[in-house]
Amino acid sequence: MSELNLILLGPPGSGKGTQGEELQEDLRLPYYATGDILRAAVRDGTELGKQAKEYMDRGDLVPDEVIIGVIGERVQAPDAADGFILDGFPRTVPQAEALAEEMEDLGRAITAAILIEVSDDEVVRRLGGRRTCEATPPHVYHVEFNPPAEEGVCDVDGSPLGIREDDEPEVVRHRLEQYHTKTEPLVDYYEDKGILQRVGGEQSPDEVSARIRALLATLRREEEMEI
Ligand SMILES: [Zn+2]
Repeated sequence: MSELNLILLGPPGSGKGTQGEELQEDLRLPYYATGDILRAAVRDGTELGKQAKEYMDRGDLVPDEVIIGVIGERVQAPDAADGFILDGFPRTVPQAEALAEEMEDLGRAITAAILIEVSDDEVVRRLGGRRTCEATPPHVYHVEFNPPAEEGVCDVDGSPLGIREDDEPEVVRHRLEQYHTKTEPLVDYYEDKGILQRVGGEQSPDEVSARIRALLATLRREEEMEI
């Protein structure tokens, strides 16, 4: 069977993480959220992990070449032989170009970039409505989709519900701006490469994952026909 080397794209609040985990189970492919694999490399004390740690300890951004190196190391592991799912990287066109080079060096290529499309209004509605309680880890509610029995109070422990800084409307709008200016050009980049797959993200998570499964099945069939 051919490899499925996948990238997940989409704005914050598009449900990429949820879909990545679903895909991981369905396809039995490892799911690499960038932050997680960087932390794992640091924990394992690999050469690149040590480099990454120096930046992280200083509070600096880990440079692209270190992140790409860590991804390169990861995808050579036996569990990624049939493919992998990458989330959170690349975020910019130069990163995508560097990743493509690394893949080429490894004799591989990205098979598909799956874009989960959600409008700005829907993102603000989803993230801006989130409320969390004071427990660690907190219980998470949504004013519209998953409200507590009593407004502003956690059903489980009775602590007051608040809004995380990341979910404040101004912060959400700022994250969206970053997404539009830096990450959205990736959509054109992967479209030019002929590997962009768009999925409407405003349906239920189950419908989104059914759509992704269907398009991956089509991709595999097309490849089999080419062989
Ligand atoms: Zn709680």
